[in-house]
Amino acid sequence: MKCIAKFNNVVNTLEQIYALFDTAMTAFPFACAKQCADCCTCNVTATGLEIAYIQDRLDDRALDDIRVRLDRAGQSLRYRPLQTTNGFALACMEGRDADEEENDPSWGTCPLLEDGICTIYPVRPLGCRVMMSTTPCRQTGRADMPFLALTITTVFMQFVEHLDAGGVYGSFLDLLEHAGNNALGCNGLPGKDNISGIVQNLKIPALMIPPEHVEKTRSLVQSLGSMIRKNEDRAM
Ligand code: SF4
Ligand code: SF4
Repeated sequence: MKCIAKFNNVVNTLEQIYALFDTAMTAFPFACAKQCADCCTCNVTATGLEIAYIQDRLDDRALDDIRVRLDRAGQSLRYRPLQTTNGFALACMEGRDADEEENDPSWGTCPLLEDGICTIYPVRPLGCRVMMSTTPCRQTGRADMPFLALTITTVFMQFVEHLDAGGVYGSFLDLLEHAGNNALGCNGLPGKDNISGIVQNLKIPALMIPPEHVEKTRSLVQSLGSMIRKNEDRAM
């Protein structure tokens, strides 16, 4: 029973963080629009908790649709991160080089995209939400992010990972495929040893905020910190 209550608290906190992120991003003049979906590739990442959230919020029919789409796509080449955002922050603090990773948009489109529209849009992970650009990517061949927006998205990635510390992080599609037939624990998925190409989520070692953005992000960081503390208090 305690596990169910803890799970409900943590997915509710995740949902609040998504809402705060979506609101924060309205401050920027992004060109993103419905059916503009070049960023919807098979290379999106997620935490195990975000997969658990999707499974919790979607009904059986929608979950079946995901399984059919994953089976039909049969893609296996996709971005598999070697470290998490907080792992990268830790590596920077310790003066270690970041691991070399492979990532190529030509590996394919996300199988959850239908006619340019995301079939799970309201519950998509943060890895999808952070894909934004002030100019249409199709025109320039790249995403243009204002520096402050980049800082904010990094901070949210750090907090979402922290919320699922001890859980897993990896390819969104790998995690979805793995979660298909597994009962979910409080931390989303059973553990990184059960899935190849998956890394473990860490607590925030330090926030990656450049000095010029400290004031501009202060209130967001305070709100995120308060959400995390409330979740931790309820878990005790
Ligand atoms: S990130 Fe680029 S491709 Fe994706 S919706 Fe925005 S403009 Fe379109
Ligand atoms: S889950 Fe949705 S938003 Fe994310 S990459 Fe796939 S289609 Fe795009």
